[in-house]
Amino acid sequence: MISKAGVNDMRGSLTESDLLISKAYVAGQWTGSDAAPIAVDDPFTLEEFGEIPDLSQAQVQQAVDAAADAFPAWARKLPKERGDILRRWFDLIIANKEDLARLITRENGKHLREARAEVDYGAGFIDFYADEATRSYGEIIPAPVPGRRLMVETEPVGVCAAITPWNFPLAMVARKAAPALAAGCTMVAKPPELTPLTMLALAKLGEEAGIPAGVLSIVTGHAAPIGEVLTKSQVVRKLTFTGSTHVGAMLAEACAPTIKRLSLELGGNAPLLIFDDADLDTAVETAMVAKFRNCGQSCVAANRIYVQNGIRDRFVKAFGTKVSEMKAGDGFDDAMDIGPLIDERAIAKVDEHREDALSNGATLIAGGPSPGGRISVPTLLSDVPANAKLTQEETFGPLAGVVGFDTMEDAVRMANDTPFGLASYVCSSDPATIARVGRDIESGMVGVNTGLISTPLAPFGGVKMSGLGREGSHHGLAEYQNLKYICHAGL
Ligand code: ADP
Repeated sequence: MISKAGVNDMRGSLTESDLLISKAYVAGQWTGSDAAPIAVDDPFTLEEFGEIPDLSQAQVQQAVDAAADAFPAWARKLPKERGDILRRWFDLIIANKEDLARLITRENGKHLREARAEVDYGAGFIDFYADEATRSYGEIIPAPVPGRRLMVETEPVGVCAAITPWNFPLAMVARKAAPALAAGCTMVAKPPELTPLTMLALAKLGEEAGIPAGVLSIVTGHAAPIGEVLTKSQVVRKLTFTGSTHVGAMLAEACAPTIKRLSLELGGNAPLLIFDDADLDTAVETAMVAKFRNCGQSCVAANRIYVQNGIRDRFVKAFGTKVSEMKAGDGFDDAMDIGPLIDERAIAKVDEHREDALSNGATLIAGGPSPGGRISVPTLLSDVPANAKLTQEETFGPLAGVVGFDTMEDAVRMANDTPFGLASYVCSSDPATIARVGRDIESGMVGVNTGLISTPLAPFGGVKMSGLGREGSHHGLAEYQNLKYICHAGL
């Protein structure tokens, strides 16, 4: 059990301490397990401040069974009735925003400012889909022969499984659960082991909002055995996953024998292309947001910054000044800009990428090695070779590297030279350059003169090995709907 005193300190006092939960939520019951609990730590203090049950496979199966039992009644509710419950859930999330944000900072480490923004962003999906459920229309297709009516209806996919990562503990599950529940599906969600507590708090508010038992269960524990139950089940008709390409591919393979529908949001390795005619301030602001938001731990983070040689020196100087002013430290400290990284592996990867680039000819402009703990100093490198690890693999940390280019063709070729295609960014003031890059770049999303593109109103998702499907907008609802074609003859 978590002592109340343990959280009621200045680091993250949860005024409603019942949002710090150490139980899983299965079939409408808050449930423990016989196995040893899994500890959750604070990435800044390294203190263990929470724990979650390690559910057995039988308990996970119980959640799946409950989702199947709850499905017919939930699917038959009017879209407006489901929407009203989602709206109450949204209202409760906003009413508890400060506690949720503190919990996110406590288990993920991100700065409290960013945690608050995540609550708003994630809740925005619940707000959007509360209404979108009532706007899901069918079609009448002109008949090819007399006396017939060809109708297309949507119906919910059924029981869905969701598996989410640690970098946005609230938003990643909100943007899956909101469209799923709005469409009439039920869901069994597995939180990440590193940051499971926010999802449990969210489920608690969902329970208060009136989500019926079994419609949304949260199964905690070790990933592989839980994943096995969810992927093998014939009852589960869809898996929605956000995480690494490696795990996504493995889960897709495990879902193949039961022909589940899949939504996969995987690795990004996003490029940012800055052209000579870009506005310098806009380019620097775009790079700051696209690279350093969430401490660089985002799948849409600009991992490769290609800068045309005419503006390169000016850009590196101005960007370098901003980067050197950034402070990394305690996410609860107002004076800091970013918090710690999630774990030691993350620190090691940033260190590896920085040293690899430096030993291959890159120049250090700002920042440097980690001072210890999980703090990674915001760092800028210039003259990074195009084949450095920093440009080839996702760094997932506050390390930015600039690579020069001469022509648009060179820039687009380098940008597309990756198996990934989630987001990309371009800074230019020339409409023709923007249009050509927008056309030729291989990614699901393009930010033009901005590093901030995510919103519940637009379809988020990738091409190539960055995944399948979209989250957000009416396209996100369709991910949880099957089409049913009804051919009515004899009219
Ligand atoms: P990241 O590098 O962002 O942690 P992962 O792909 O490792 O990305 O993790 C994303 C999510 O996938 C987490 O919830 C994690 O627990 C889960 N996961 C990892 N391995 C498996 C697995 N074998 N089966 C099911 N889920 C898994």
